[in-house]
Amino acid sequence: MGVLMKEYDIIIIGGGPAGLAAAIEAKKQGIKGILILEREQELGGILKQCIHNGFGLRIFNEELTGPEYAERFINELKSMDIDYLTGTMVLTITKDK
Ligand SMILES: Cc1cc2nc3c(=O)[nH]c(=O)nc-3n(C[C@H](O)[C@H](O)[C@H](O)COP(=O)(O)OP(=O)(O)OC[C@H]3O[C@@H](n4cnc5c(N)ncnc54)[C@H](O)[C@@H]3O)c2cc1C
Repeated sequence: MGVLMKEYDIIIIGGGPAGLAAAIEAKKQGIKGILILEREQELGGILKQCIHNGFGLRIFNEELTGPEYAERFINELKSMDIDYLTGTMVLTITKDK
């Protein structure tokens, strides 16, 4: 069985707030092929554990928990045709000769 290969312009390792923000901004800047690789089963990184309020005041002008705040960016990401793989841990990176 053949393996389906797809090429990307940017591959981001880690789907925490930094990775999500980088992917969304890259897309806004016109980069088309973007992939996020996340080792956990869900995107969001440490924000998923920050269950107290206080996130989102600056960007959304409302108080959100960490998971709620992450969800806003995850939904934006999903609406932007950005690819992501969860349950996918990057163990090594090699360079083509
Ligand atoms: C206990 C705790 C409480 C915090 N509370 C607050 C708070 O109240 N308010 C606040 O502003 N900040 C808080 N922070 C800080 C905040 O969580 C971080 O600043 C923020 O999460 C950093 O975002 P990040 O995307 O760089 O990293 P992370 O959120 O850590 O995301 C990194 C992601 O990369 C993935 N990853 C890592 N290595 C690999 C790999 N090899 N392959 C694939 N995926 C990989 C991880 O699974 C993770 O999802 C807290 C941090 C901790 C640890």
